[in-house]
Amino acid sequence: MQTDKQSIAILGSTGSIGTQTLDVISQHSDLFEVYALTANNNIDRLVEQAKVYSPEVVAIADESKYHALKQALSGLPIKVFAGEKSIGEIAEMSPIDTVVTAMVGYSGLLPTIKAIEANKKIALANKETLVVAGKLITELALQHHVDIVPIDSEHSAIFQCLVGENESSVEKLILTASGGAFRQTPIEMLSLATASDALKHPTWKMGAKITIDSATMMNKGFEVIEAYWLFGIDTDRIEVIVHPQSIVHSMVQFCDGSLKAQLGQPDMRHPIQYALTFPKRLQANLERASLADIGQLTFEKPDLDKFPNLRIAYSAIRRGGNIPCILNAANEVVVDAFLKGKIGFFAMSDIIEQTINEVAFIASPKLYDYIATDSEARQRALEKIK
Ligand code: MN
Repeated sequence: MQTDKQSIAILGSTGSIGTQTLDVISQHSDLFEVYALTANNNIDRLVEQAKVYSPEVVAIADESKYHALKQALSGLPIKVFAGEKSIGEIAEMSPIDTVVTAMVGYSGLLPTIKAIEANKKIALANKETLVVAGKLITELALQHHVDIVPIDSEHSAIFQCLVGENESSVEKLILTASGGAFRQTPIEMLSLATASDALKHPTWKMGAKITIDSATMMNKGFEVIEAYWLFGIDTDRIEVIVHPQSIVHSMVQFCDGSLKAQLGQPDMRHPIQYALTFPKRLQANLERASLADIGQLTFEKPDLDKFPNLRIAYSAIRRGGNIPCILNAANEVVVDAFLKGKIGFFAMSDIIEQTINEVAFIASPKLYDYIATDSEARQRALEKIK
């Protein structure tokens, strides 16, 4: 398959970002072709997508589903792989130009490393990759002259605000946050909050893990860390502001006091398309934000008593080393436990903080340190749940 089209691999194609990326690709099939699709375990949707988009390769991380996948695609000219390792092998295949990293959590780390080492452009949706190992990833990208273009809407907004600007004139990055499902819930009611309450996100439709992260504001904490690595701005100059309408996607303040903001409908297909077409802009048949209909855009300070995760995340990136990696691992464990109804809202932050205090600090971690830290932090966090 040798064409002029941009050849794309979507890691995590069956999730929310993955399916919306395919939607964007469908709108511009003259420019993009799907080379590879990978999923964690949603075999039915993966098969459905493979039949529509005819990739060269598909992979499922869950090895036990290999035969079912192979059978479902038999007769089609599609190579089938299985196992977590195969996701990284796919990311480095030579025809691929761009790798969209849309998997959930820590699982994004190793395939992203493989993709960068193979000089692929990265359209980054998996923010945990930068939370866990931002230093390693950004240094590797620099070394391989690889662009990391953010898909995350806040970072896409900042990225767009920075076009044509001089780095040294940036004073501050201002990340907007919807405030999540519990923005208006009184603090004394929060301890009773359940997963189903938390899953009712006011403005964005997303996967379960990120919707819980949004309800606890860990998502915003992760985004502060993501911005720190993507834009090389110190955390003292990264501010979070709650903006419930999710129309202003983020802002940059410059040394002359000027503020630039990027606005639009809360629809991830906008930042996905921008990441794929940057530095160009292409037509998108998506709803436009009508400010007169929206009427009001409001802003408020985040409540750090209600959302201690935001404070914990700032502290983690300031301490650096393997602490953000511990933060991420403990968070994945507690979010899973909260989704299963095993722990309450504030237990999530408590367990994360305890885990950070227990796992040994490593100032300059190597890849194997991150892997060991992740595993130890998960184990420590799990012990506090049972
Ligand atoms: Mn975001």
